[in-house]
Amino acid sequence: MTLQRLVLIAALLAAAVAYYSFGLGHYLSLDYFKSQQAALETWRATQPAKVALAYFVAYVAVTALSLPGAAVMTLAGGAIFGLLWGTVLVSFASTIGATLAFLASRFVLRDWVEQRFGERLRTINAGIEREGGFYLFTLRLVPVFPFFLINLLMGLTTIRTRTFYWVSQAGMLLGTIVYVNAGTQLGKITSLSGILSPALVGSFVLLGIFPLIAKKITERLRMKKVYAGWKRPPRFERNLVVIGAGSAGLVSAYIAAAVKAKVTLVEKHQLGGDCLNTGCVPSKALIRSAKLLSHMRRSREFGIREAKAEFDFAEVMERVQRVIKAVEPHDSAERYTGLGVEVIAGAAKIVSPWEVDITREDGSTQRLTTRSMVIAAGARPFVPPIPGIEDTGYLTSDTVWNLRQLPRRLVVLGGGPIGSELTQTFARLGAEVTQVEMAPRILMREDPEVSELVTQRFRAEGIAVLVDHKAKQFLIESGENILVAEHEGRDVRIPFDALLVAVGRVANLKGYGLEELGIATGRTVETNEFLQTKYPNIYAAGDVAGPYQFTHTAAHQAWYAAVNALFDPFRKFRADYSVIPWATFVDPEAARVGLNEIEAKQRGIPYDVTRYGIDDLDRAIADGEAEGFVKVLTVPGKDKILGVTIVGEHAGDLIAEYVLAMRHGIGLNKILGTIHIYPTLAEANKYAAGAWKKAHAPQRLLEWVARFHAWRRG
Ligand SMILES: Cc1cc2nc3c(=O)[nH]c(=O)nc-3n(C[C@H](O)[C@H](O)[C@H](O)COP(=O)(O)OP(=O)(O)OC[C@H]3O[C@@H](n4cnc5c(N)ncnc54)[C@H](O)[C@@H]3O)c2cc1C
Repeated sequence: MTLQRLVLIAALLAAAVAYYSFGLGHYLSLDYFKSQQAALETWRATQPAKVALAYFVAYVAVTALSLPGAAVMTLAGGAIFGLLWGTVLVSFASTIGATLAFLASRFVLRDWVEQRFGERLRTINAGIEREGGFYLFTLRLVPVFPFFLINLLMGLTTIRTRTFYWVSQAGMLLGTIVYVNAGTQLGKITSLSGILSPALVGSFVLLGIFPLIAKKITERLRMKKVYAGWKRPPRFERNLVVIGAGSAGLVSAYIAAAVKAKVTLVEKHQLGGDCLNTGCVPSKALIRSAKLLSHMRRSREFGIREAKAEFDFAEVMERVQRVIKAVEPHDSAERYTGLGVEVIAGAAKIVSPWEVDITREDGSTQRLTTRSMVIAAGARPFVPPIPGIEDTGYLTSDTVWNLRQLPRRLVVLGGGPIGSELTQTFARLGAEVTQVEMAPRILMREDPEVSELVTQRFRAEGIAVLVDHKAKQFLIESGENILVAEHEGRDVRIPFDALLVAVGRVANLKGYGLEELGIATGRTVETNEFLQTKYPNIYAAGDVAGPYQFTHTAAHQAWYAAVNALFDPFRKFRADYSVIPWATFVDPEAARVGLNEIEAKQRGIPYDVTRYGIDDLDRAIADGEAEGFVKVLTVPGKDKILGVTIVGEHAGDLIAEYVLAMRHGIGLNKILGTIHIYPTLAEANKYAAGAWKKAHAPQRLLEWVARFHAWRRG
């Protein structure tokens, strides 16, 4: 640190110490000012220039040193100098003081902050570079952000001093006028009744509503800036255009039609999106066939000496298509048209914040105007750029449903939910499956014991689960496909006939206007808590918006997106992610709602754990499914549920009781006090609540109760 910096720090510290140790704050209080008001006014009447200068210098000093008292000084300015001169003096003094504080912060701290937080600061600075003036203006306009903090923090960014000065002065002007005006009224108080004078009350009302007005002005300015350069159509043909007819798009359109809005749903491929055509529905249908086979293989466990299944893989896959066909009417154009939705088959492209171009299969185009839009364009499988992968003829969750011949040796790349579900399913259908995962365990989002239990089951079913194996390269040697994976520093070669890539899904972000409109994207379309993109009338929901990639979260978001799109600015809702459940449909199923232990630890949230083993559950024993557990995290010492993980038969259904409980603030005591039918798997939930009760029983009280009973026995 240079000498000049040390001197400046010492001077600032000395000023702060003097301020507090000599009680200078007393002179900056409203009481003190009131007691001196008459004397000050007399002084001003005799020596106006001197008083103005003294006031000005004091104001600059207080703000430059970031000392408390600027608000009182502003009110005093109004009282002593009146609205015009008070405003002039305060406006310049506060801006000069703020700029000095800004420069001091820059001089003393900037290098240090740059060294420590350089990476993060770079992103902030990039934003400041683009819109620094506007950000600062917003901060200045809305007086909820402390004045001194803005000065100090802005000093750490790359904003230019000149910009800082004029934007601060302009941004603070309105607030200054309101405060000085309140001060002019304070000055007129001569008696208690003066407090209730209409002018004073009016000034304070103005002070109270100023933040709201400022917020509105800021919003207006932001809107103007965002929409600048776009020509808004004089009227709109539609209230809402929804891009994509997967889970998110269908629900958005449904809601819009239900509330009688004019809505158009545009789909370029198949209605129903991934869930119906290549996701939830086919995967669950295939899992069902595979489960039947697994039961038959386990027939001896059920007292049946032999049960032989004869099947043709192609027929099983045809059944999957029949299931899709059976569910299809729920998502069909006929159904939605009947509900009042205009359904258009074609590719949508956003061409302005209010216009969407549709290109139909025959090449014809149509332009739609709309007040709002919901982007529900979904996601697609991610294929990692591993050398040689393109020559493998790999499958993904998009294409695997076209298989009609079971591969003999299948490599599944990926240990997430989709990879794990398909691994077990194909193994049960008779393929030799090797699951390759580079992380130390499969189902990494879940607690380790979930991964362990599922891995054990996979291995017991003959699946090779290779964790800590990083796929490096694909080779074809003598006509045979080989995956080379790195494991503990050496290469492992895995021969295979087919490869299924299931390493995650990426949002569809290209080719439909996001780039042209400058709608920000990272891994997904960036939205605020109302699911609005940069353009407040363009919303996003579902896999394209993230952060979750489930059908039920897509539908959940769709409600918010559609309602907000149709009713903003009169009413809008923040998307509520407080209770999000999901399940992985491996066998045994793994389901979760809320926190697990990993997340609670990461977020530093204290918790108690209660565990109930499903191996103890009568119905699970009778069903031959006595495996798994219910694990409940609660607030220490309370029955409030923080999160639940269930592994076991039908875990995805069982968890519903806890989802409801968490959503409506129902604790474990109430679950325990609820009758559950005997014998059902659902009893596991009650027994978990019972285990919590037992562990939290009031021991002292029970000792006294034991004495009470002993006394009654005589
Ligand atoms: C194998 C697998 C199993 C799954 N299992 C489950 C499960 O059990 N439970 C669960 O909750 N979730 C599951 N999911 C996830 C679930 O399928 C997705 O989360 C869900 O489909 C997301 O819906 P969406 O509407 O956001 O996107 P999508 O369903 O992908 O729909 C987006 C639609 O937008 C269309 N589109 C894109 N761009 C345009 C454009 N420019 N113009 C017109 N149309 C366009 C696409 O053609 C597509 O139809 C599974 C996924 C997979 C792959």
